[in-house]
Amino acid sequence: MDTEPQLLSVQHFCVHDGPGLRSVVFFKGCPLRCSWCQNPESWSKDAELGYKATACLRCDTCVSTCPTGAMQAPGHWISDACTRCFRCVETCPGGALTQFGIKRPVENLLAELSQEFALYRQSQGGVTFSGGEATLYPTYLTELLIPLNQAGIHTALETCGVFHLQAVRPWEQLLTSTVAWEAFSAQRLWQMLCRLDLILFDLKLMNNLQHQQHCGSGNRRLLENFSLLTQLAQAGRAPGVWPRLPLIPGITDHPDNLQALAEFLHQSGVSVLTLLPYHNMGVDKFSWLQRPVKYAHPMLSEEALHTATQILQSNGIQCYTSGEENYAHLYAADAQIAL
Ligand code: SF4
Ligand code: SF4
Repeated sequence: MDTEPQLLSVQHFCVHDGPGLRSVVFFKGCPLRCSWCQNPESWSKDAELGYKATACLRCDTCVSTCPTGAMQAPGHWISDACTRCFRCVETCPGGALTQFGIKRPVENLLAELSQEFALYRQSQGGVTFSGGEATLYPTYLTELLIPLNQAGIHTALETCGVFHLQAVRPWEQLLTSTVAWEAFSAQRLWQMLCRLDLILFDLKLMNNLQHQQHCGSGNRRLLENFSLLTQLAQAGRAPGVWPRLPLIPGITDHPDNLQALAEFLHQSGVSVLTLLPYHNMGVDKFSWLQRPVKYAHPMLSEEALHTATQILQSNGIQCYTSGEENYAHLYAADAQIAL
């Protein structure tokens, strides 16, 4: 049994995270540490305290309220001494302190999502699981997916691709038509993945060392996962897999990376890609969490986006901006799958 997840938020009426109008559920916990990450509050699996100096009234209520003495001064707490009781958040009159992460029973979350079912159906939208990395919680997700599947709600996953797919043995047999999905029902990850309609799979750097340097771990596992899932999808035995590339100035937009990515996508039978241009709106969150900023750059310029698009398209990759994808054409015409 995997641990019960901490949820960061649920956002409704989203248009960039799969087809139609969607609700996006953000999970806490991520195996990567990308230097340009806009959601550092999603890194830890645990609930966390955040402090926004611009909203602080300097009233010292947090210091006097803290039962452990962890809060030494406004915005300065000793992490090891903090029990995450969040009493300081409850009593902060300025709204400067925030609790990142809350546990919600599946029924409680489902009740909120079900209020939007009519909207999902009308817009051909649905629910997207994002993060952080939602695959850390296959048991919770499966419990959520079962009623969503029964209600005919489209479901999607946004993933960094780092999960233990290869632990499902013998996974090669999944490619043969003679093996039933049910044979793998004991495998929690598969049980969850097979209930999804779409996987939005982030790819970043094709060079393993660069991936290690900028994302905190190598890319071998996630590339293997992408290849396997796309093979399975094209055989009609897994959800469709749509790749996305965060376009980070000076890092992922380097022509060598774009060309290597195009080649990899072709090898996987995929010729589409969503580009996610870097924005720097999440930089302040690092200070809210008492963490140093690793990467602070201006937003990606229109020119850099245009150049990257040209390189990819000249290498046979159809580029999309998020929210404008044509999900009906995931794979080559002779290997399309129904979504
Ligand atoms: S209680 Fe809130 S507003 Fe008052 S000092 Fe602490 S963080 Fe600032
Ligand atoms: S979360 Fe609790 S223990 Fe941590 S600083 Fe706030 S009041 Fe103190």
